[in-house]
This record gives sequence, structure tokens and C-alpha cells, in this order.
Amino acid sequence: MSKGPEALVRAEIRALTAYPVEPSKGLVKLDAMENPYRLPPELATEMGARLAAVAVNRYPDPAAPALKRALREAMRIPDSLEILLGNGSDEILQIVSLALAKPGATVLAPEPSFVMYRLAALAAGMRYVGVALNPDFTLDEKVFLDAIRRERPALTWIAYPNNPTGNLFSRTTLLAAIDASPGLIAVDEAYYAFAGGASLLAEMGRHANLIVVRTVSKLGLAGLRLGLAIAPRAWVAELEKLRMPYNVNALSAAAGELLLARADVFRRQTEAIVAERAKLAAALGALGRVRTFPSAANFILARVPDAKHAFEGLRERGILVRNFHGSHPLLENCLRLTVGTPDENARLIDALAATIA
Ligand code: PMP
Repeated sequence: MSKGPEALVRAEIRALTAYPVEPSKGLVKLDAMENPYRLPPELATEMGARLAAVAVNRYPDPAAPALKRALREAMRIPDSLEILLGNGSDEILQIVSLALAKPGATVLAPEPSFVMYRLAALAAGMRYVGVALNPDFTLDEKVFLDAIRRERPALTWIAYPNNPTGNLFSRTTLLAAIDASPGLIAVDEAYYAFAGGASLLAEMGRHANLIVVRTVSKLGLAGLRLGLAIAPRAWVAELEKLRMPYNVNALSAAAGELLLARADVFRRQTEAIVAERAKLAAALGALGRVRTFPSAANFILARVPDAKHAFEGLRERGILVRNFHGSHPLLENCLRLTVGTPDENARLIDALAATIA
């Protein structure tokens, strides 16, 4: 009898595909919603000095009080709420799923949305149900509430704004879903910084079944791997039991503490990205054969005549984007374009014009 993974690994894990990360060396990287701007040189130098002082022979302080204070300050998290730290918000998704994985429990999410919701659910042994968005990527309130009443999910994920579509779902629909749901609603605000203040943070405390998930990745600190859940104390007390004690390393904690205090730097960069998003959308529209969808995030979903051809044409011209064609019926011929620097966006437009000509 075989003792290899084909016999021993759970069938639902063997059926999964690992999260795809394309090689990007030498390419203009517009595939992963990174902030295109580096730290200002003097801040990078200051970070170097700060990191040199970290006692890496010691385990980090798992409570990371200074880092949590910096996050609280930077994200205006009220004292009435607690913070759960994750190694990126990816890890938060995993922890939340594990905590709610009672036998037979269901996870629900609109689709298309962030693929890790499904992956984390299946890894935790949960059943996953996707609820299709409308063709314009809005959330149909009746369809969604009916799905919640039918499936009685232990956990529902809402990306707000949504990835890969970029839009914000109706706040009224989300509030109705929180009321209708017997389970937890986790609102993933990875792109909050680009959403003009849209957030469900102010709703916390009014609903026992709501948590908000955030990350510093899209602010410009993706390399640190730092994410968080913001939740009432009772939720964090339970989730803490599943967090590996040293999941956020000492260097990331020290860098986060220093950098998050520099709100001015990230505000400038974020504002530049939001301004560029509008220019990029206008330039894409002017190409004539590209349909763009409204975005409140740092990327734009665009429908082109032939996504595979455009994706490959862009790569040949040195630009990496993400092709969603084939991943969901609603994403036919869709590319997701991360907003880059003005120069990168100009190159993207030129290259796209050439591939669809
Ligand atoms: N949530 C959403 C909606 C995302 O798009 C992403 C990154 N693509 C994440 C969470 C994970 O981000 P990170 O692990 O870098 O915090």
C-alpha cells in the first residue's frame, strides 16, 4: 500500500492548486497590487539603524504592544476593539477559518473574489459556497441574503473593495447580510486606503458577528508580511489561541512600528496612486476596445478583446499583469491591472494599445 502523498494527503487538498505567483524578474510588475513606490531613502536608512538594534537572538514579544499601538494610530482603531496580528492578512484568513471549522460548517463568499477564502476554507475542512455577483460585479441583495438563509454559513467573507473586481458592494446590503447571518461576517478591507474612507470599522461594536481584516501590504509594506483582524475582545481572545505565538517576526514588528508612524509618507503615496488610477482608467477607456470597471482599489479590472493575447503581448513588451480569463465565467477576457507609477502606467497603455491594435 502506498505511503506517499497520493494516498495520505486529503483528497480536497490534492485537488487544489497552490496560489500562483508568476516570475517577474526584469518585468514592470503590475500583477500583485503592490505600491510601486519605495521608501524615501532617509526613512530606509532610519529603518536600517532601527533593525540593527533588534535583538534577533531573542524570540519576538508575541503581544507586540508597540506595533499594535502604531497600527491603532495609523488605522484609527478605537480602544474598545482588539487587534489580532497575522503574518500578512492571508494568515488571518487561515486563523479565522480554523476557529470556525465545526464539522460540516460552511464558508460563503461572493464570486469572483479573493481566491484565498476558498483555499483557507478547504484547508480547514470546511464546505465552501460561492455566490455569483451580477455581471457588473454588484452584489444582488436578494440572491445573497437567500444564500445566507439557505446555507447558514459559519463564516462569510466580504472583500470591501472586492478583488479582483475593484468595486465596493452596497453598504446597506452588507449591513442586511450581517443581520441575516447566523455566522460571522469578516469584512476584508485590504484596499481600504484607496477607497475614499469606505469602511465598516465604525459598525463594529453594534454587531456581535462582525470583524474587519486589514493589511499593511497595499499601503507599501507588502514585504513585511503584516496583517490584522480588528474585532471585539471576545473574538480576539478565541482567535489568539490559534495564532502561532511568534508569527510576526521581530524585524517586521520593529519596521512596522517605525514606518506606520510615518503616515505622511504613505498618505502621499496613496494619494498619488488614487490620482493615477483615474488617469489610467481614462487612458484605457480612450483605447476604445477596452472596458474598465469602476475601482475603489489600487488596481483596475479591464475587459479586452482577447485576454490571453493581451497578457502575452504585454509580457513580451516587459509588463506583467494578471489574466483572470478562465478563472470565473464573469471574468471572461478580463485582466487585472495594478496601478503603477505614471511612467509604468504610460508603458502599460502603450503596450496594450500595440497588442490590441
Ligand atoms: N485580502 C485581499 C482581498 C487581497 O486581495 C489580498 C492580497 N492579494 C489579501 C487579503 C492578502 O494580503 P496580505 O497577505 O499581503 O496581507
